[in-house]
Amino acid sequence: MQSALESALLQLESAVAVLGIDEGLHQLLATPRRSLEVAVPLRRDDGSLEVLQGYRVQHNLSRGPAKGGIRFHPHTDLNEVRALAMWMTWKCALIGIPYGGAKGGVAVDPRALSRNELERVTRRYASEIIPIIGPEKDIPAPDVGTDEQTMAWIMDTYSMHSGYTVTGVVTGKPVSIGGSQGRGGATSRGVMYACFSALREAGVDHREVTIAVQGFGKVGGLAAQYLHDAGCTVVAVSDVGGAIYNGDGLDPAALLKHLRSGADTVVGYPGTDSISNAELLELDVDVLVPAALEGVIHEGNAANVKARFVVEGANGPTTPDGDKVLEDKGVVVVPDILANSGGVAVSYFEWVQDLQAYFWSEDEVNDRLKVLMERAYDDVSALATAKGLSLRTAAQVIGVGRVAEAHRTRGLYP
Ligand code: NAD
Repeated sequence: MQSALESALLQLESAVAVLGIDEGLHQLLATPRRSLEVAVPLRRDDGSLEVLQGYRVQHNLSRGPAKGGIRFHPHTDLNEVRALAMWMTWKCALIGIPYGGAKGGVAVDPRALSRNELERVTRRYASEIIPIIGPEKDIPAPDVGTDEQTMAWIMDTYSMHSGYTVTGVVTGKPVSIGGSQGRGGATSRGVMYACFSALREAGVDHREVTIAVQGFGKVGGLAAQYLHDAGCTVVAVSDVGGAIYNGDGLDPAALLKHLRSGADTVVGYPGTDSISNAELLELDVDVLVPAALEGVIHEGNAANVKARFVVEGANGPTTPDGDKVLEDKGVVVVPDILANSGGVAVSYFEWVQDLQAYFWSEDEVNDRLKVLMERAYDDVSALATAKGLSLRTAAQVIGVGRVAEAHRTRGLYP
C-alpha cells in the first residue's frame, strides 16, 4: 500500500504536470523547508524513564508562517509528518489563508498515559520545538490524539519561556485563554459544507442521503452530529474499537454524550449492530466520510466502496491507487485539502483575533467559515470542469499553483 508520503508526492506530481512546473521548482516544492527531530524524555508516574521521538516539519514558508497540527499516535514517524506538512501547505494556499504548511507529532499512545504524564510529554516536546515555533514562525494546532488541553499546555510552556503570555503561538486553545468561538467544531462544520456543496452540484437533496463516518473523534464525531442535525441519516460510525450500524439512523449527539460519560468506544452502544471498520467503508450508503487516519481506501478495497460521494474529513484517507479506482467508478471524492480545511480556516481566524486581542461572536466565525469554504469549493469545481480534472487534482493544482507563484514572485535567496 502507498504510504502517506508516497501519496503526497504522487499527488504533487499530478499537479506539477498540469501546471507545467519545471523540475527545479518541483524539487523545491517536494522538499520540506525544515525537519526537526527531537528526543522527548518522559518520567513515568512509577519513576521509570522513557525516551519518545518527536517531530516538527515545516514544509513551506513562502506564503507566511507555517501552520499545522500536532499528532500523538504510536505510529507517527518523520515521513508521515512530512506528508501531513505538505498537505497543509496546499490546503492553506487553496483556501487563501496566508500560511505555509507544517505538522508535528510524538510517537506515543496518549491513551496509555496518565494525565500528568501527558502534560509532561506535551511540555517537554513543546520546549524542544520552541526554537522554531511562534506566532510569526509556526503555529501548532490539535490533530489526532491531541486537543485543546494540549494546546493550553503548549501555550503556557511557550509563554513561560518568553516571560509573558503569547496567545497566538497555538490555535485550537480553550476560549478562556484566547481560543476562538467555533474552533472546536470548525473542521466538522467545514466537512458538512463541503459535503453539501458536492451534493448540491449533483442535484441531490441532503435530507435524503445516508452517511457512514469512519472515526468518531474530534472531526468525525461532530461531523456526524452536524450532518444528522441538518437532516441527513447517519447510519454507521466507528472508532479504533470497531464500528456500529443502525439502518434507521443513529443519534450522534446521544452517542457523544455516552462517550463523554466514560465509555471508551462506540462499540456496544444500545440499539446498534456491531460491524468491522472494513465493513463500514463498504456499506451501501450515499456518502462516506473517512475521518480517522491515512490510507484507509486503497487499491485493495476501493472497488468495494459503494458510496457515490467520499468526503475526506481525514488527511490522506485515499491512496492514489485507490483514487484511480474510485474515479473510474464515477465516485465524487471531495479531497481532504478542501473538505477538512474548515479547521485551519478557523485556526486562522483565531490567530487573527489573538494578534488583535479582539474577539468575534460564534455567528461571525461560522459565517466567515461558510463563505471561505463555499468559495474554495466553487473554485475547485470550476477548474475541474474546465480542465476535465478530478476534484482532487483541481484542488492540488490551485494550492500548488499559488505556492509556486509565491516562490517565483519572491525569487531565490541569495
Ligand atoms: P481524534 O484523535 O480526535 O479522532 C480520531 C478518531 O479515529 C478516533 O475516534 C479514533 O478512535 C479513530 N480511529 C483511529 N484509528 C482508527 C481505525 N483504524 N479505524 C477507525 N477509526 C480509527 O483525531 P481528529 O482530530 O478527529 O483527526 C481525524 C483526522 O482528521 C486526521 O486525519 C486528522 O489529520 C484530520 N484533521 C483533523 C483536524 C482537526 O481540526 N482536528 C483538521 C483537519 C484534519
